[in-house]
Amino acid sequence: MTIEIPALSRDAHRAVLVGMAGITLASIAGSEFATFLISAIFDLGADLPAYLVSGIVPLLLAAPGSYFQLKRLEQVKAAYRELERVASTDWLTDCLNRRAFTHRTTAATRIGRPGALLVIDADGFKAINDRFGHDRGDDALRAIADVIRRNVREGDLVGRIGGEEFGIYLPDATGPHATAMAEAIREGVEDISFLPEDAPHTLSVSVGIATATASVPFDDLFRVADQQLYAAKAGGRNRVAITAANASDQSRAAA
Ligand code: GH3
Ligand code: MG
Ligand code: MG
Repeated sequence: MTIEIPALSRDAHRAVLVGMAGITLASIAGSEFATFLISAIFDLGADLPAYLVSGIVPLLLAAPGSYFQLKRLEQVKAAYRELERVASTDWLTDCLNRRAFTHRTTAATRIGRPGALLVIDADGFKAINDRFGHDRGDDALRAIADVIRRNVREGDLVGRIGGEEFGIYLPDATGPHATAMAEAIREGVEDISFLPEDAPHTLSVSVGIATATASVPFDDLFRVADQQLYAAKAGGRNRVAITAANASDQSRAAA
């Protein structure tokens, strides 16, 4: 995808010139001389209308320049917003990419509020690619991402953090809330009607969760969630495992 950043070329230069001309005229027109001239030309008689006219004329002259400058500025701002969106988005699933997810989750965990990190890994994905081909594998990844998106709240962060691995950060979430969401996603993935070669193939994911009631550095939270993911895989896959990243939270997360 290419992003077009509008060049500040001829239009912008023209706008600046018109603006400068307007300002120059404003200073001339604002002078006593201009007031006198306008007063004489239009035979206004009194000083006040002449002052008004001598103020309005430069304003009218400067307006188009300012208008074009503002319009161009808006276009540049929109282009940079789009550039930022593309740079932080995973091309395949439209989730955050790993860099953006890590960056935003790190910022969220620094605030020192409770939260939960879910690491979701598709089960037996290599076999799907081997059996049905890489493109059908990509379809499955997009379908899993859709299930995840359908189950999160506004403000939750969703990223594709590895080939067939996703991360979700839930600000202010408790253990039970994180577990409920993980179970809903796990069941939602099982329900995907994935029909490569017109024969149904069941998809599944394993989920590791780390919760924190206070500020836990992202790296620590991720390490704990990844250990839980490993436990879920070792336990037979298609399951959720959770623990607290702060030792003192252990009992609450399990609740
Ligand atoms: P496990 O249940 O232990 O997670 O097994 P797995 O097969 O999912 O794990 P493994 O790490 O052995 O294989 C992951 C596979 O995911 C291998 C790789 O080809 C595939 N993969 C990674 N990224 C992509 C992608 O973008 N598209 C597709 N189609 N496949 C991908
Ligand atoms: Mg996997
Ligand atoms: Mg993996």
